[in-house]
Amino acid sequence: MIPTPRHKEKTPCRGCGRAMHWVHNVITGKKGPVDPTATVYVMLDEASTDHPDAAYGMTAKAFMENVETITMEGGRVYTREQIVGFFVSHFQTCPKANQFSGGNKR
Ligand SMILES: [Zn+2]
Repeated sequence: MIPTPRHKEKTPCRGCGRAMHWVHNVITGKKGPVDPTATVYVMLDEASTDHPDAAYGMTAKAFMENVETITMEGGRVYTREQIVGFFVSHFQTCPKANQFSGGNKR
């Protein structure tokens, strides 16, 4: 996984025109668009003492500002600097998502 000058560029969605990033999912092998504007949360498996009906957590942005490394199953370690962020699929946020189908989701 070698960074290139283009790997963090935003490109416009052909449906709605909003800027998005592309992520090649290393688990599934598929490439998909992600929305850099949607707020994503990290939810911990720990109940809030102030709000017992809620879990502790934080935005993914805050998580990334505080995490040092993430260790993957198998031992690969990613440092904070190697992780751009956590994103929602643009298919979840695109108002024109229903016009895309199969392998033509751009
Ligand atoms: Zn879109």
